[in-house]
This record gives sequence, C-alpha cells and structure tokens, in this order.
Amino acid sequence: MIPQIFKEGLRQLRRGLDHLLSPELIIFERRLEKKRNVTPIWNRQKLNWQKLRYSYHPSQRKLTKTGIAILLTALLMGGAAFPKIVYQVSVDETIIGTVRKVETAKAIINDYLDEMSQDSPYTLVVDPAVQIVPIKQKESLSKINDLKKDLVQSLNVKAQASVIYVGDKASIPLAGAKEVNQVLDNVKLYYVENKSCLETLQAKFSDDLLVRREIVEIPQIRNVDEATSLLVAGSERRQVVTVEAGDTLWDIALSQSISVDEILANNPDAESLRPGDQLVISQAMPLVGVVTNETTREEIVISYDTETRYSDSMFVTEIEEIQKGSDGLKIEEFAITRENGDEVSKVSLGMTMVKEPVSRIIVKGTQMPYGVGTGEMAWPLWGTVTAWYGWYEYGYHRGIDISSGYGYATVTAADSGVVVDIGYDYFGLGYFITIDHNNGLQTRYGHLNSFHVSYGEAVRKGDPIGVEGNTGYSFGNHLHFEVLVNGVRVNPANYLP
Ligand SMILES: [Zn+2]
Repeated sequence: MIPQIFKEGLRQLRRGLDHLLSPELIIFERRLEKKRNVTPIWNRQKLNWQKLRYSYHPSQRKLTKTGIAILLTALLMGGAAFPKIVYQVSVDETIIGTVRKVETAKAIINDYLDEMSQDSPYTLVVDPAVQIVPIKQKESLSKINDLKKDLVQSLNVKAQASVIYVGDKASIPLAGAKEVNQVLDNVKLYYVENKSCLETLQAKFSDDLLVRREIVEIPQIRNVDEATSLLVAGSERRQVVTVEAGDTLWDIALSQSISVDEILANNPDAESLRPGDQLVISQAMPLVGVVTNETTREEIVISYDTETRYSDSMFVTEIEEIQKGSDGLKIEEFAITRENGDEVSKVSLGMTMVKEPVSRIIVKGTQMPYGVGTGEMAWPLWGTVTAWYGWYEYGYHRGIDISSGYGYATVTAADSGVVVDIGYDYFGLGYFITIDHNNGLQTRYGHLNSFHVSYGEAVRKGDPIGVEGNTGYSFGNHLHFEVLVNGVRVNPANYLP
C-alpha cells in the first residue's frame, strides 16, 4: 500500500509538472504503474497517453513548490521502504541514460535546440520525441557529460512547416504561414502580371488547396521562389508522338508548343526522323490551376474607303485627291477568362467609336487627251478577229486582222496620239495611218478605204481616224492593226483589253 500522503505528494507534483511539461512532454509511467500497481498518476484524459512531441517552451519551466515540499516530506517519511525514483532517458526505444531530475535531460535538449535554432530560420523540434520515464533506481546515474554527448548524438532535429497540399497531387512544405501567403500571391500574380488589361478582377485557384502545420525534415522545406516555380510549372505532361511522313522536328515542336531542344533532350536520336518513329514529348505543366478573369480593351483600326468621282473637265491621265483619307478607331472591351493563362472564354462588353474613318475622295478625268497616249488601248474596230499575230502559211503575220463583217465601218484611234505617218503603202498595207502615242508605243492601221485625219493631227483615244477597206494586199474588207514598241512590231493582243 502506498501511504495517502505520498499519493497526495505525487498529485501535487503532477500539477507542478503539468506546468513544466504539458502539453508537449509526456512522461511514460507505464513501468511505474505496472511495477507498483498504482492508480495512474497523470490525467489520462488530458494527456491521453500518446507520445507527443517535445518542444521548447522556456516559460513553462515552473514547479509548484508545494508539490515538491509534500513529495520530499513523503519521501522522508517513507524512508528506506521506498526506493528512489529516477528518470530513464531514451530516444526511439534506445536508452541513453538515467538522470535524477527531468530538468537535466530537458535542459540538454533545450540547449541543443537553442544552439541549432541560432542558424536556422525554422521552428525546430526533436522528432521522434525524447522519452523520459520514471523508474526505480537500480543502476548508477549517468554522468552529465556522457549523457549530454549521447543524447545530442541521438537527437533527430526536424522543423515545423506549413505544408501546402494541392488536392492529392502534391505537397510543398514552407517555413510558415507568411511564406505560404507569399507563394500563393506569387502564383496568382504570375498569371495576372504583364497583361495589358484594364483591370484584373479576380484570380482564384481551381484546385483544392489545403495548408497544414506539420513536422518535416529540414531539407524538404522550400523557399518562396522554389515553391512558386513548383506550383507554376511543377508537373509534367508526357506523351508519345508518332512521326508521320513529311514531319520535321520543327513541325512537331510547333504543334506541341515546345522547343526543338526540348524534344532532343528526351529523344537524342531524333536528329534524323523516320515515319513511325516515336518521340517522347515532355512538357512542364502548372501544378495548381489558376482561373483569372480580366477585362481587356482592344483598339481596332478601321481602314478608310476610297471614293472615286469622275470629271469630264479633266483628262483621263489626271487624278486629283480632293479629300485625304484617315483611319478610324474603335475600342472594344472584353471580359476574358483564362485557366493558367490559356484563354477559355472571351465576351465582348461593348464598343466605343473613338474616331470615325474619313473616306479618301479622288477625282479621275474622263476627257481623252490629245497627242499623248493613256497607256490603255481600246479596240480600233468592232468586229471579229480573222487572223491573230503569229505564223501562217504565207509567213509571219505581225498584226491582228479585224473585220466588222459589213464592210466600211469606222476605224478609231486605239489611244491618243499624233498622226506621224499617213498614205499608201505599196508593200501590202494599202492606205494606212501610223499614230505615235508619245509614250514609246505606236499603232498602225492598214487596208483603209479612206482617212478622217491628216498628217500631224493630234487625236484622242476613240476618235474616228478612217474607214475600213480592202486596199493593198487584202482579200475582203478588214483592218490590219499593228502595235509597235520603239519601232518593233509586237503582239497587239497584249495591249488590248
Ligand atoms: Zn493583216
């Protein structure tokens, strides 16, 4: 039987130790319980007999003096009948040593954590926890220096971290809540920065994000930049692409939105492609989905029209601009939704006309000029082409024969110019006219029946110059029409509309 006063002493001590130890430090007293068959000293509900972790709380080092006093009295009264209680220190089931006071072991751990914490940005903890178990003293106590050395060697120091869970895809440990917020802000900013939008209304995560406080190995903790990069491009999409005939590396890279170098990194043999080859395409993908809503404003230029007017007081060679054109401008606003930067919807919010376009107005003359060709010829006679330019049985035909079909039709000037030759040609053309258009071109009209113009006369395009006939080397009424470029006869078909 244990004297009541001893029990009371332990109870008092326990309250003191509660201050000192709870909630992190647990002392297992199973052995004590088993050996002595005592009622558990500790409040089971509160401590729940779980192995909790030990962390440094200097403010909690306080013993109730009353508890110690009563316990000492009880020990004195009990005398030799009760063996001394000491504490066995163990780490992960390995016994390190034995101390008389819990504080001795605790001080070693605290000092060690203090020392480690000086160079660490994290809140450090010992994991697994150091177990300090009260036992009946059988063997001698450890020497403090030995215990210190052995205990420190056995301690495994980890850090408290705030871990971001992205659904069940990934977990990223960070030092604390501040870093978590920085990372999450950075990831959102990544998708809204440098966008030429009026205002980004919203950026939200489309994945379930959970942040938990956990104990992790120190090297696992990421800094803000690393965590941001992981979330923005931390997952990978791999797929196999089969090369088809005619595919080049460049085509495949373009269609997969990656670079040729990225393909070669995964497929060193891809320098020479053959149809049927399979390429592994690997792409960095965002780990976390971010949906952004933004409003953009697009400036749209409206090109001006050109309005053409005609004037018979101007020659056809003349063009006058009476009003300069200027482009208009309208602004259209859009609401754009993106997922990880890729546009998924774009809705027009309306349009504002900033500036109406102004038409350019030009005036073209319709009056044919005298003496100088317009460069655009007209058929000199309405009728049928009876012989084109080219080889015939009788030789090379260096003009076009046109027949009106009814005889003596009016022949008109193909373009404006001056009559530089007119008369009778004994070598075959009969009555003919040559008009110089003063632009490098001349036209010649043969087999005419009679003339409407005379030598040196300036004519305009379309003016009557003579009558269709059958003079010279001709069999039936027709017009022989030639075009000369710098004196050389060419195919008139190239100059006629
Ligand atoms: Zn002819």
